[in-house]
Amino acid sequence: MFSVNELLNIIERENLKVDKNLIRLAFDFAKEAHKGQTRISGEPYINHSLETAKILAKYHLDQDTIIAGLLHDVPEDTEKTLDDIKKEFGKDVAHLVEGITKLGKLKYRGIERYLENLRKMFIAMASDIRVIFIKFADRLHNLKTLNALPPAKQERIARETLEIYAPIANRLGIWQMKGKLEDISFKYLYPQEYHALVKQLEEKYSERDEMLKRLKQKITTELKKEGIKIIEISGRTKDLWSLYKKLQTHDNELMRIHDIVALRVVVPAIADCYRTLGIIHNKWRPIPNRFKDYISQPKPNGYQSLHTTIFCGDGKTVEVQIRTQEMHLTAEYGIAAHWHYDERGSIKFNKKVEWMQELTKWREEIKDDQKYLDSLKIDVFQDRIFVFTPQGDVIDLPEDSTPIDFAYHIHTEIGDKAIAARINNQMASLDTAIKSGDMVEIVTDKNRKGPNRDWLKFVKTHAARDKIKQNSQKSIWEAIKDFRK
Ligand code: MN
Repeated sequence: MFSVNELLNIIERENLKVDKNLIRLAFDFAKEAHKGQTRISGEPYINHSLETAKILAKYHLDQDTIIAGLLHDVPEDTEKTLDDIKKEFGKDVAHLVEGITKLGKLKYRGIERYLENLRKMFIAMASDIRVIFIKFADRLHNLKTLNALPPAKQERIARETLEIYAPIANRLGIWQMKGKLEDISFKYLYPQEYHALVKQLEEKYSERDEMLKRLKQKITTELKKEGIKIIEISGRTKDLWSLYKKLQTHDNELMRIHDIVALRVVVPAIADCYRTLGIIHNKWRPIPNRFKDYISQPKPNGYQSLHTTIFCGDGKTVEVQIRTQEMHLTAEYGIAAHWHYDERGSIKFNKKVEWMQELTKWREEIKDDQKYLDSLKIDVFQDRIFVFTPQGDVIDLPEDSTPIDFAYHIHTEIGDKAIAARINNQMASLDTAIKSGDMVEIVTDKNRKGPNRDWLKFVKTHAARDKIKQNSQKSIWEAIKDFRK
């Protein structure tokens, strides 16, 4: 039924540098692990893993990410562990799967808390942004199969997608993904408005298809005459959610919106873009003041293209977008586009830097509450590590913090009664330096009298230091009192 060949075909078609045998192996591994499991819709669970990996391949992600996509629900939902994955597919794949497993553990507890957690999470995962792509792909497939879930859950997932995932996709410049996430969420959150808009578009714009086809033909002929090579020329319709939002600022008048339908022309070089523009303006009259040069002045999110709106007979207008192949790929796939071209090795570093820069920018776009926006200042988080509780909460601490700092951060009582720690499920001494992304668990003893003053030699946080001094003194004082009795 659900064959790995669907994934292999995409890999072939997109010309990805991926070892197909390894993909087969990962598919078989996931299939075996999820054997007998079904989704709420009744379909075999492996279909979800396969679809997630297919989305990642379509977005040109690398081999490790595609494999991690196939395996992303294995540790959480099956008998197989992260260690098994590490043995079979190496530590890089295991690291990605671990990242996605931790993200999955976050629970929604009010928007503010959720955003707070996500923010820390994304920073914690800044060393490998591929985790977030897997999460997007996972979410996109879950949205596509949302009708199997009860309405309350549909609404929660759709809202979360619209408020958190889509703005991040936008910030990362993955507009194709952003559009898809938003439009499916739109359908579930505002079904009446969604269907009304679709109907309106069908009524008013069905004849546009014909017109667009003719225009495409004419432009192709004109450009050929001038010796300009066309890499791609195609029509695109505006995404529904962004159209819906735009309509609200245009008195709900579809006719006032000029870029509902656009013609996209992809040419080899920047010089070709300007020449194409000249040829088009020479042949079709442009609407004054609608021309935008986003090549010489890119949008703040990095988007580049030339936009112009032309009259094409009967008073009808069409927006034409002219760009190079590189601009086009960047617009469709965002930073994932670079994986396709960059040398391996240089990728991680570049992505990390870009991502950190992105983070400082995307705070401008999440309009939630001011407090949240203020706290997003990246410099606050320098020299900080982000670690997980077993419940999946994210705690930030200064660099080189120890399990004792962690314990006091959670609760004074836990610090006072700590006797041992587990880091990533391994026993660790209480003075171990924790690393970003570690999961830390504190073992306590109810009967323990109080903190050990020796801990002062290695703790990093003021909170831990103060509590140790205070509570160990108290116990000495009590000991003296006891002695005097
Ligand atoms: Mn999943």
